Amino acid sequence: MTDCIFCKIIKGDIPCSKVYEDEDFLAFLDIGPVNKGHTLIIPKEHHETLLDTPDYIMERIGPIIRKVAAAVKSVTGADGLNVMQSNNASAGQIVPHLHFHLIPRFQKDGFKHWPQGQYKEGEMEEYRTKIAKLL
Ligand code: AMP
Ligand code: ZN
Repeated sequence: MTDCIFCKIIKGDIPCSKVYEDEDFLAFLDIGPVNKGHTLIIPKEHHETLLDTPDYIMERIGPIIRKVAAAVKSVTGADGLNVMQSNNASAGQIVPHLHFHLIPRFQKDGFKHWPQGQYKEGEMEEYRTKIAKLL
């Protein structure tokens, strides 16, 4: 997609700090890392979100995420690692080209997880039933 910043990186029109590339996938350092070594993994084919992305890509990206995650964790000496992925602006997605964040984590690095809510009586079962029905 012509105005997509990650497609421009794939084409080589914009530079990136590449850590991994094969025919269909690219991994590079996030320019604004939560912690140093924070890496993004993208398919070269442009799809906006996880929900738009075909199975043939999703089936192959898992082993790459695991391989790159192991390298990031090893090099940074991180205690932990988050794999994060956002879909649509309301979920915090800034770049509309599917990407997975690999974030090396350290005790007390200050990165906050989401607050936890709660269900009213019966609501959890209501959501479970509706979601399960579509699967
Ligand atoms: P998201 O909120 O999941 O869409 O995150 C997009 C991420 O892309 C952010 O963490 C940005 O720091 C990162 N980013 C944006 N432009 C570039 C770039 N040119 N090179 C590397 N990372 C980038
Ligand atoms: Zn793109």
